Amino acid sequence: MLSRIAPAQPSSSVGTPAPQPYEAFDGQYIDGSWRPGRSSGKLDDVDPYTGKTVAQLSLADCSDLDDAYRSAAAAQVSWANAPPAERTAVLLRAAEIMEQRHSEILDWLIHESGSTRIKAQIEWDLLHGITLEAASFPHRVSGRVLASDEPGKDSRVYRHPVGVIGVISPWNFPIYLSNRSVAPALALGNAVVLKPAQDTPVTGGLLLARIYEEAGLPAGVLNVVVGSSSEIGDAFTAHAIPRMISFTGSTAVGRHVAELAASSPAIKRLALELGGNSPFVVLDDADLDQAVPAAVTSRFLHQGQICMSSNRIIVDARVYDEFVDRFKAHAGKLKYGNPDEADTAIGPVINSRQLQGMMGHMQAARDAGARQVLGGDPDGLVLPPQVFTDVTNDMAIAKIETFGPIAPLIKVTGDAEALRVANDTEYGLSSAVFTRDESRGLRFALGVEAGMTHINGSTVDDSPNSPFGGEKNSGIGRFGGEWIMQEFSTDHWVTAQQIPRQYPL
Ligand code: NAP
Ligand code: MG
Repeated sequence: MLSRIAPAQPSSSVGTPAPQPYEAFDGQYIDGSWRPGRSSGKLDDVDPYTGKTVAQLSLADCSDLDDAYRSAAAAQVSWANAPPAERTAVLLRAAEIMEQRHSEILDWLIHESGSTRIKAQIEWDLLHGITLEAASFPHRVSGRVLASDEPGKDSRVYRHPVGVIGVISPWNFPIYLSNRSVAPALALGNAVVLKPAQDTPVTGGLLLARIYEEAGLPAGVLNVVVGSSSEIGDAFTAHAIPRMISFTGSTAVGRHVAELAASSPAIKRLALELGGNSPFVVLDDADLDQAVPAAVTSRFLHQGQICMSSNRIIVDARVYDEFVDRFKAHAGKLKYGNPDEADTAIGPVINSRQLQGMMGHMQAARDAGARQVLGGDPDGLVLPPQVFTDVTNDMAIAKIETFGPIAPLIKVTGDAEALRVANDTEYGLSSAVFTRDESRGLRFALGVEAGMTHINGSTVDDSPNSPFGGEKNSGIGRFGGEWIMQEFSTDHWVTAQQIPRQYPL
């Protein structure tokens, strides 16, 4: 994913005029119609860099949510029965529309979510990539014929869609993390109700709905409800219709969603993609020319607001001082400020609540004895890169997912201590280890308690055909390729006894 950060126009859009931008977004998308929500609550959707309003929405209440789930249930069966080629065609058209609307999508990501242009392009690549991957699913999903010890018994396993899937997504990679669930779910014949985060109702939901509508997705198969979590959050999971909830967000909210899914009258399947505290480990033989930019990217891309962000940089004592100097120098050169400028590396964080949290974490680190070697005050919501040395793994700044441009550098001695510190966390999402010796790296990687480990690579990595997900409190399940095909479909064992058999009773 990180290899393609040059903001290139997709080839198919070269020479064709850009389509008219989608019109104003002002509400919900339910059963194929665009309408305001019925809640008395309004949402002012603001650009975190300029503070300007980019959309004003009337929020959904529980009756809107109920309409959305009912329309999904009504539309799901005929969508599941549509020929696979028809479902593939909708996804391929959606991918084509994403190409035609490439710059419109980037602009929304920059202005609604504070993405830098660099990050917005990465997110577009991921968005497009998962749509193409999902377009292959309708013909890839398959059942099995099993051997049977019972004479004359035909034993088969059919793969069915799960049914209606409720998708809850966060604000940090809004259009990709929504579509990472939506595209596979649709491809496999499910219907979806999507609830984007209130910080990103357009990029997390409504923009995606416009794209699928234009691609010819039948009404009701995808619905988007934008509402406040205090009004519709619990009802979203507890509702009787969805058979599964695909949640991406914090561990605290994910745990609450899991409790609701278990206690609701209709028990639901869960996909949980939660928080992370990814260790980035530098062993004593690491190539620092590679390790330093990889660590800077792992920590500072999207202002550190990525679940896979390296929240702890763990460096062997033999190279610690040199690494600190080079890391600080590299981070100190990052341009911060206006996310719309092509070379800005660090834009605004999402909102002032998040920024206040970061300021508190940094003060606690200073109080606990960490030494700040790079910093600067926030300007609006833009926090310049912050680097701390002399950090220990038990300090809050290392334990808590800070979700900001704040780098704690931890010194360790030897591989065994590095591994112990790397694993000393409640999370287990991504991780990275740098060494010139690949087999040493592999031994280390296999000891890391995480869903993903990159030897000589960034902790921030994702690709549409690979298993993305976490261990421990980072979640349950895997996205991508064949793994998401399993998650979003279910087995039906069907047998046929073709000759008379003997029964025990
Ligand atoms: P969050 O606060 O947990 O919110 C995630 C989503 O849950 C939002 O849509 C939010 O809506 C919604 N929500 C909040 N309360 C809810 C409730 N009671 N019922 C149903 N939905 C509810 O997380 P965030 O701050 O947006 O995102 C940052 C977190 O996500 C970090 O911990 C990060 O590591 C994690 N994350 C994980 C992955 C992954 O793949 N593992 C990817 C990205 C982010 P509102 O915001 O509208 O209230
Ligand atoms: Mg906003």
